[in-house]
Amino acid sequence: RGPGGQRGVPFNQPGSLTKVYAVASGKGGVGKSSVTVNLACALAARGLRVGIVDADVHGFSVPSLMGITQPPTRVDDMILPPVAYGVKVISIGMFVEGNKPVAWRGPMLHRALEQFLTDVYFGDLDVLFLDLPPGTGDIAISVAQLLPGAEILVVTTPQAAAAEVAERAGTIAAQTGQKVAGVVENMSFLEMPDGGRMELFGSGGGELLAKRLGAVVESDVPLLGQIPLDIRLREGGDAGRPVVLAAPETAAAQALQDIAGRI
Ligand code: ADP
Repeated sequence: RGPGGQRGVPFNQPGSLTKVYAVASGKGGVGKSSVTVNLACALAARGLRVGIVDADVHGFSVPSLMGITQPPTRVDDMILPPVAYGVKVISIGMFVEGNKPVAWRGPMLHRALEQFLTDVYFGDLDVLFLDLPPGTGDIAISVAQLLPGAEILVVTTPQAAAAEVAERAGTIAAQTGQKVAGVVENMSFLEMPDGGRMELFGSGGGELLAKRLGAVVESDVPLLGQIPLDIRLREGGDAGRPVVLAAPETAAAQALQDIAGRI
């Protein structure tokens, strides 16, 4: 068997045709997981074969954002991931009892990620997303070791302070030789009933971050898009149906669709 990668080449091996995106952020709560699930659903809806590894040990939220309640199934020594909206999902949260906090250390995380990449049968995938824990933890280094071809997507809010923290997360890519695929700015503004935009978290953080990361990795890092604040994005998450599917007419869903088209 060739778990993971396309045409039998595991996606952590050279020659794999699976595009791997590690979604990172400087801190929690900026919408990293929401961006991950929406991009995954948008690409799956276009007919791509998509998987998500939720490696955010301390804040695993992908299963609930995707409305997944069923555990993975086991066949012999293989773990079959549950599927939602055409996306195969495996999460650390599926291996934790109840809502217990996870206090794992680096080596355990490394092993868990390694196991996800080898024992979970994703079949052939076009795109695999990794939802990383916020910050610059051991897991980012594990990703670099286990999936050297992974590209980093950095999610930030428009706040300058948030962009600075995110820069540290992105800088690890330079140190480990990974490519930064781009920056996604989330919570960019709130559209007012009169059509105006309220910039609740300031502005310019995404652009600033893209520029700074570009300087660090010495190549062009694009700002892939700016996603507005939208109640329906939050509601979609709470209901387990990502906004790109639940409310595709919203500006937030459209921004996410545009980003999906760019990666
Ligand atoms: P992270 O993964 O960075 O911790 P989440 O994706 O879990 O962040 O988002 C944190 C909270 O903010 C969630 O309740 C989510 O629904 C909400 N949220 C994220 N982005 C937006 C947005 N653009 N508009 C409205 N709510 C959002």
